[in-house]
Amino acid sequence: KKIALVFKDISDIVRNESLLMIQRNLAYAILNSKTVKEFLSVAAFELSRILDITGIYIAQLYNKSDYLSITGYINKFHKNWTEPHKGSLEGYVYDSEHSVLVSREEIFDLCQKGEINFHGNIPALWMGVPFSGENSSCGVIAVVNMENQNAFSKTDLSIIELIANETKIFLDKKRSEENTIKITKAITESPSSIIITDRMGVIEYVNPKFTSLTGYTPEEVIGGKPSILKSGDTPDLIYKSLWGTITSGQEWRGELKNRKKSGDFYWEDVSISPVFDDNGYISHYVAVKEDITDRRQLISELIRARDKAEESDRLKTSFIQNISHEMRTPMNGVMGFIDLLRDNSLMDSERMEFLDTIEKCGNRMLYIINDLIDISKIEAGIMQVNRRNFKPKDLLRDLVNFFTPEAGKDGLTLIMKADNIDNLEITSDYEKIYAALSNLIKNAIKFTDKGRVSLRAELNRDTIDFIVTDTGIGIPEQAQKKIFDRFARVDNSNIKRYEGTGLGLSIVKGYAELLGGSVEVESEEGSGSAFRFTIPLGQHAPDGENNLSEDLSYSNITEHREKEMTKVLIAEDEETNRLYLKTLLKKRNYELITATNGKEAVDLFAQNRDIRLVLMDIRMPVMDGYEATREIREMDKDVVIIAQTAYASAADREKVIEAGCNGYILKPIRKEELFEVIDSLLTEN
Ligand code: ADP
Repeated sequence: KKIALVFKDISDIVRNESLLMIQRNLAYAILNSKTVKEFLSVAAFELSRILDITGIYIAQLYNKSDYLSITGYINKFHKNWTEPHKGSLEGYVYDSEHSVLVSREEIFDLCQKGEINFHGNIPALWMGVPFSGENSSCGVIAVVNMENQNAFSKTDLSIIELIANETKIFLDKKRSEENTIKITKAITESPSSIIITDRMGVIEYVNPKFTSLTGYTPEEVIGGKPSILKSGDTPDLIYKSLWGTITSGQEWRGELKNRKKSGDFYWEDVSISPVFDDNGYISHYVAVKEDITDRRQLISELIRARDKAEESDRLKTSFIQNISHEMRTPMNGVMGFIDLLRDNSLMDSERMEFLDTIEKCGNRMLYIINDLIDISKIEAGIMQVNRRNFKPKDLLRDLVNFFTPEAGKDGLTLIMKADNIDNLEITSDYEKIYAALSNLIKNAIKFTDKGRVSLRAELNRDTIDFIVTDTGIGIPEQAQKKIFDRFARVDNSNIKRYEGTGLGLSIVKGYAELLGGSVEVESEEGSGSAFRFTIPLGQHAPDGENNLSEDLSYSNITEHREKEMTKVLIAEDEETNRLYLKTLLKKRNYELITATNGKEAVDLFAQNRDIRLVLMDIRMPVMDGYEATREIREMDKDVVIIAQTAYASAADREKVIEAGCNGYILKPIRKEELFEVIDSLLTEN
């Protein structure tokens, strides 16, 4: 018995020494193992020194998870699996919070009672110890022997408890390392730039995003202060409020305009929060900042676009009001005076006066419609340029001759200074320059009450400037850019109401750009304005290539036939226009035939080959005037065909001539003009 006791003492000593060694080796493993698997393999090896085990594993329970994640070695094989917490032997032990040693029979019993389910081979002996660590690492460590019922006993539970403790320390350490890695990764890879300062605001850390955004490396800023980023544009008050907030322990949020190392400015959405130490004192500040330069730019672009859309909407509305006013005024004139004309007791002179007024009103409506068509053609990009060689001096002289009476009526003098370009010839679109300068001169006369309007030319190397100067009301500076926008008008309602649609200058600008030039204004309110219309001199076109330089209404006609009664075909779909033409032509010794579309015109011509003159409307149903002209021209080379067109750009005129017309007349048709064209063409013929 004594011998036996001594033997036991010795074995206790050996066992205790072994335990110490196991503890020491596990302490190493805690420090050096990178994974649970590695740690467990050390634990299995160490335990097998004193216990007969065939398996060891850790069942970990993660926060709020209903599953246990199990890592371990059974019969020397590494295994990984998961099982539900509830109903597992490990979950049962974890919930009981007690170390447990159970035999195969007892496990079987528990299964029978429905306390647990056991999948797979039931071991001969199972020993498990629950543990619960700080960083939510908790679970059960278990050892098994699959065959030997006597492999270990209850006294051995303490050894497993010791191992459980080491495991808990290992898992805690691993978890906190993982957290640190996660946080570090989040900071270094963050798309926001991050600065950490000490409590005095001295920079201790900046992340890579900070460097890529600002251009400052960590070495350049660590030890310094974030004020290195100040743009100088942020009011001190903001920094005061920032520091007040964070030193009082609260988070500050705001937008700051900062400056990069390169000197470029950028905008940041900044959040700065204090970090507290264990005693509740502020130890650091963390600033998380997002670059919002693009966002701010986008927002300001959106605001600009919205303002523009609103402005254009406003312009459109005011345009519609304007147009309807501008059209109604002459329309009222026409209707009113027509009514007055019905009065039989009118004197001839009165009647003439009324007719003059009606004509003036009609002209005004015509201008408005032409402007509208011009602007829509410019905007649709279908306005054509027809270049030819001409002397700008002639153009200016034509303008002055045309406008002198109008200026004179308003008590203004119209002066031209163009001696410097006496013999200059340029290649450009005569009509468009004429139209543009007409607009400028018309405006100058309209907005000038007394003084003069002058028109002069300035010659540069490759360009020529036409300058229209007036001594009128002038244009306020802030309005000078806008007046070239379509429908834009300066509100000078306090002075007086000027009629207009706000289209003239946008047409001028459209033409200038179409011709490769520009238009600018210089003006002082109250003293007058000067508009400078610049265009390139252009490349001189070889003679003979001038397109449509001559008036096309007088082209070559070969034969002249004299007859008592001239047969005339009027092709016109609009009844009023037909009636009007008939009324005019009846005054002459003409025999009239009328057609209401192109097809009818062709048929009538075929039946009446003695027709000498055709007045051909261009826009007609069934067959248009171009086609009808072509067909008639095939039948008769000599008949005089005069096109009536509502809108005659040079391109339109060209098309009319190509189709085979001898000339054209513009709608609305005036009596004198009509007879002039007819006479000249018929005589030539
Ligand atoms: P409209 O004359 O039909 O109103 P415009 O486009 O020709 O349209 O001109 C736009 C505006 O520019 C005019 O309404 C007027 O306020 C201003 N403006 C143009 N020319 C002159 C000028 N010579 N003197 C003063 N204001 C002018």
